[in-house]
Amino acid sequence: MRKDRLTYFKKQLVEKQRQLVAEVGRAASYGKDTEDDAIKDLGDQANTAYTREFFFELGNGDRRMLRDVVTALGKIDDGSFGSCERCSEAIAEKRLEALPFARYCITCQRVVEEEERTAAG
Ligand SMILES: [Zn+2]
Repeated sequence: MRKDRLTYFKKQLVEKQRQLVAEVGRAASYGKDTEDDAIKDLGDQANTAYTREFFFELGNGDRRMLRDVVTALGKIDDGSFGSCERCSEAIAEKRLEALPFARYCITCQRVVEEEERTAAG
């Protein structure tokens, strides 16, 4: 992957990590008034609606996602970012733009989700 693309994805991931850390921290301090500043910060961003939707969809999965974001940042550092963890093929950049912390290509993602469903059911 080109260096400017890596820089772009790294920026996305760092921002997502910042948001998730704030969200996890907020969940941990539920009922306190510490959230005001964080909400103001989010409000300053142009994509507030997206951010809100993002957190709604995340629900209780935010810790898991935070872990994936941290993993993805590590992969940028060690040069393996953009490769599927399962089949080692390149993950489509369109997919990475939507999910910069994606661990699998779309094909493997479906297989992994199917396996998880089977394990859970
Ligand atoms: Zn794959």
